[in-house]
Amino acid sequence: MEEKFVFGHKGCLPPGDTLRETPWKLVASRASRPSRAVSGCSRTPGYRVTTTVSGLALVLVLGVAGALFARRALMLTRLVRLGKPVQRFDDVPRRMRNEAVVVLGQKKLFQRLVPGLIHAFIFWGFLVLFPTIVMALLAAVAKGETLPWLGSQGWFALLVDLFVVLVLVGVVAAVWIRKVQRPERFKGSHAGEADLILGLIALIVLTLLLWHAALIATGLNEWPAGWSPVSNAIAQVFGEGTWAEVRERLFVWAHVLLVVGFLAYLPHSKHLHIATAAVNVWFGRTRSRGRLEPLDFTVEDESAMRFGAATVADMTWKEMIDTMSCTECGRCQDVCPAYATGKELSPKLLIMGLRDQLFAEGPKLLAARDGGEEFEPTPLVPNAVSDDVVWDCVTCGACVHECPVTIEHVDHIVDLRRHLVMVEGRFPAEGATMLRDVERSQNPWGKQQAERADWAEGLGVHVLQPGEPAPEMLYWVGCAASFDERARTTAQSTAKLLQAAGVDFAILGPRESCTGDPARRMGNEYTFQSFAEQNVTTMNDAGVQKIVASCPHCFNTLANEYPDFGGNYEVVHHTELLAELLQEGRLDPVAGTGEITYHDSCYLARHNDVISSPREIVARVGKPLEMARSGKRTFCCGAGGAHMWMEERGSQINEERAREAAATGASTLAVACPFCTIMLDDGVKQNGSELRVADVATLLAEALESS
Ligand code: SF4
Ligand code: SF4
Repeated sequence: MEEKFVFGHKGCLPPGDTLRETPWKLVASRASRPSRAVSGCSRTPGYRVTTTVSGLALVLVLGVAGALFARRALMLTRLVRLGKPVQRFDDVPRRMRNEAVVVLGQKKLFQRLVPGLIHAFIFWGFLVLFPTIVMALLAAVAKGETLPWLGSQGWFALLVDLFVVLVLVGVVAAVWIRKVQRPERFKGSHAGEADLILGLIALIVLTLLLWHAALIATGLNEWPAGWSPVSNAIAQVFGEGTWAEVRERLFVWAHVLLVVGFLAYLPHSKHLHIATAAVNVWFGRTRSRGRLEPLDFTVEDESAMRFGAATVADMTWKEMIDTMSCTECGRCQDVCPAYATGKELSPKLLIMGLRDQLFAEGPKLLAARDGGEEFEPTPLVPNAVSDDVVWDCVTCGACVHECPVTIEHVDHIVDLRRHLVMVEGRFPAEGATMLRDVERSQNPWGKQQAERADWAEGLGVHVLQPGEPAPEMLYWVGCAASFDERARTTAQSTAKLLQAAGVDFAILGPRESCTGDPARRMGNEYTFQSFAEQNVTTMNDAGVQKIVASCPHCFNTLANEYPDFGGNYEVVHHTELLAELLQEGRLDPVAGTGEITYHDSCYLARHNDVISSPREIVARVGKPLEMARSGKRTFCCGAGGAHMWMEERGSQINEERAREAAATGASTLAVACPFCTIMLDDGVKQNGSELRVADVATLLAEALESS
């Protein structure tokens, strides 16, 4: 085969340098080291020797790898385009911010410092080292060739050395965690594949380091060797001579082959997330985390109407990208209250199960669409996940909050429930009772609407009448505080406090219906939307502008979900309003000394970021003590996702949380949610603990009364 060689600059071969022929190419070797400029030559020394052998080999390697990558990427893209529509193209500035913070800044990974650092070393390392891939490709064809400017920068060479070491440290630490510590969160993940990927990453950076060392040993480095302490030290071990040049070729090609092989393997492996995670973050939620995507029952073509997810063909394109982005890290599983209490549900295995079915059936769907053999996808439940997994979830959102690639597990679960409930009528029997009560009595307690304002008897609370204009503030009481004996105290305390502070407020009384939240989280979107429309009509007719809600579930629905149905109000939680009244001096309670631990409701803290207000109130009436899991990383009481009305299998979530509260040594467990009040009060009693469970409004009202 004909071989060609060119010098970087014709005629700039310095005196003493020679050309010689090896069996595989012509090599220019330098007589003197270190590198030095050649008189009359505009660039630093460094020869480019191109051969058709190297060039053709690289074209072949890139062609095969590129074809493998492109084939898989094309299939995945076509699959995603098959997904059902969902609106995620708005709010570009916030999406850009998420990319910067979550992807580049690795914010969610740093929720756990050590694993976060390990991942950041590897991720940032690959960002910094990316130009070296281009440099290696150039050098593989033309010895001594590199990127203009960057290839001669000492600081960049220093960064390369530094990040190679950091990546290696990251890989070793990751292997240590996986093989020695063996945390529970990796149970069920593809361990062999993770090992292979870690091995490949280590080999890629090692060959890069050795190639740089060989470049220095052969004098082909265009940057001052002193800037590369690690590569330079290895170069001293290598020494000069023919073997140094052979090594340089060996390492650059090993590096190129590993990188290209890795890229070809990527879309076929669990590390597909390297390509999809940034996309998934971009299309993640920018509005409230507590909002569910509504189903559109108004589409004219009934065959296009969607009733949740029965098969992979019903998944939205975002749900598909979710499954492709899972890194199998198990962070979601680690924080899941259902998993922690021994239920079958693992959010990680749920996403992996959906992904496996998508990858197994997606190509057949595409083939059928292209005119191939007819294909009927199989049901996701129970093929990908079991019925129990679907019903174990309390929609607490801990998994979503923890997931480093912002996978939205709750959307998947609710979509599966929607199909089971609305199409198949397949759900736990206790859930059926709740749904029937909501539909018949407009509240899940099955009580008469006429009794809704009974809690306010004797308190002088104004009940807004039809046609009467709304006052400054509408107090949305919610079903629990209206009908449950223990939760009613919260409503009474809130009303007394608003009166004491001189807030102009009223309640809707019998015209207030269930917001539809339990029906929606259970999967009955149709019932939810009926209630949403009814309640929005009532409030819009009354000209309601501001709402205070004492139930976080009502608060979430009113603030985040009713705007989808024409209900746009300023909604605050009662703890936010009470904290504001305290700050303004409109409430002046007696400072208490009792030790109080506050339990964050998932729908308040995690879904809606209300964390400081309840704590401000607690600090005014007692001595606060924090539980191990608090704020956005709180642990559910077990009532969410319609579980307030469902039987819980195995050990109880509320008892686990009540134990954690008791472990603080506090005498009072403060809550800010009527569901939490009921669940944790039950949990405390089951544990035989002495803790008193009370809403912060009740504690504040008591402190005010004793002033
Ligand atoms: S929402 Fe909560 S209960 Fe449901 S899967 Fe996620 S962590 Fe588990
Ligand atoms: S869903 Fe997210 S948190 Fe859970 S294993 Fe996958 S990447 Fe990790």
